[in-house]
Amino acid sequence: MLRLLCQVCGDQAERSEHGVLWLLKDHREDWKNWPEDMAVTEPPVCRRCVGVASRLCPALRRGAALLWAQEFPVVGVHGPIYRSNGVVTVPFNGERRLVAYDDPAVRWVCAISQVRKLNGCTLISTDEV
Ligand SMILES: [Zn+2]
Repeated sequence: MLRLLCQVCGDQAERSEHGVLWLLKDHREDWKNWPEDMAVTEPPVCRRCVGVASRLCPALRRGAALLWAQEFPVVGVHGPIYRSNGVVTVPFNGERRLVAYDDPAVRWVCAISQVRKLNGCTLISTDEV
C-alpha cells in the first residue's frame, strides 16, 4: 500500500494522467459521490490484473468498480484496538476499526493494513483499461 504496488502481482500499480488505478467493491448505491473521501485498505492494481481480480476475488463477485484516483493520502491504519487494564494490554472488543493517524486511539491499534483516502476519483469501465 505504501509503495502503491498492485494488490495482485506486486508490480507497480497502473498510473495515468487521471491518477492511480483502484479496483474496489462497488458501493455506488451506498452514498452520493462514492468513492470520494472513501478510506480504503485495498492497494491499487495494475492493468494486467484487473480481469483476474474481478473474476477470482470473492469480495468483488457481487460487483466491482474500477476507478482512477488523483489523490490518495495515507491517513491511518486498520486493525484491532487494545486497551490497558492496568497490568497488561488486552484486546478492547476484538473489533477491527479504521483509525486516523491524528486519533489518539492510534497508539492502541495493532495495525493490519494501512489506510488511504481516495479523492479526485473517476469511475471507468473495465473496457477502458
Ligand atoms: Zn498486477
